Amino acid sequence: MHRRIETDTSSAGHIAVVGAGFIGQSWAIVFARSGYDVALYDADPSQCAKAGVFLDQALSQLDEAGLLNGLAPQAVRERIVPADTLSHALDGAFYVQENAPEKLDLKRQIFAELDELAKPGVILASSTSALLPTSFTEGLKGAARCIVAHPINPPHLVPAVEVVPGRSTSQETIERTAALMNAVGQSTVIMRREIDGFIINRLQGALLHEAFHLFAEGYADTESIDICVRDGLGLRWSFMGPFETIDLNAPGGISDYIERYGPFYRQLWQENDHLPDWRACGARLESERSQILARSDMQARQVWRDSELMKIASARRRPEQDC
Ligand code: NAD
Repeated sequence: MHRRIETDTSSAGHIAVVGAGFIGQSWAIVFARSGYDVALYDADPSQCAKAGVFLDQALSQLDEAGLLNGLAPQAVRERIVPADTLSHALDGAFYVQENAPEKLDLKRQIFAELDELAKPGVILASSTSALLPTSFTEGLKGAARCIVAHPINPPHLVPAVEVVPGRSTSQETIERTAALMNAVGQSTVIMRREIDGFIINRLQGALLHEAFHLFAEGYADTESIDICVRDGLGLRWSFMGPFETIDLNAPGGISDYIERYGPFYRQLWQENDHLPDWRACGARLESERSQILARSDMQARQVWRDSELMKIASARRRPEQDC
């Protein structure tokens, strides 16, 4: 999996990963196992040391699962070097992946700084989940080189990435970002234009609203709703999307599905004209979830989640992707 493909950009320097929390440390693995050197910077100096502990553990598990492109964990680890300042991280970089907290003012400030420090032609990409690229890059001298590359957590195990241009992003920036994402083995989606939530969170949001609605109105408890996705819809969704699903679920394909089931779904949504109040369900949800998973076991469960994802990633690896 994730074989490195030579691109023009790859020979031009290293990748700067800015912000070394959940997402930054995972991107560092994505890039380093594909042969790129990574400079890892965080405003909190202790965070790079914490990321180091995570990397050591994750790389050894990834090696066991065969998810390091045939590289030794140590060889991948050595490519990831902490940087003590932002300008050191950017010095010699051809691409920046920003992963600071999700706050508009902070992203504006960081992108202004990145645009000031980075040489012309260096791509400035953000991992933001929900901020439109135009909202924090408009007006910058280098707005044309700014873009969103939105991953799913953790990107070293979940390959989909949404490449989202802002109003001023150049075609060249879109193409070079997508080429890099493909080169490091991600499944790249290029959006034609920005919209709140991009694609993934809009889809997830639609499902979450309905899950909250069913819970809030007392139709089922959290575990029952989770089972319907985990042991139902999610099994298919782990290897095909909603359109392929319905194409295969009617004898005459997708048009037949629309004729057979379209009116039923239409009627469901006519009834469903209200949005549930998520906060109003918060205390009950917290109480049910804490009985299923003690809050003190959250981190262990995240490790479990990643090891389950590794099994899926490993099982889905195609033979030609082995080095
Ligand atoms: P996190 O809190 O784990 O990490 C953020 C890191 O940024 C922290 O280590 C913090 O010290 C550092 N930081 C703060 N200010 C900084 C600055 N000025 N310069 C450099 N580093 C700075 O958060 P995360 O979950 O890794 O999220 C990072 C970004 O990725 C957010 O924009 C988030 O929306 C996006 N994202 C998160 C997820 C997810 O599920 N966690 C998924 C996709 C995208």
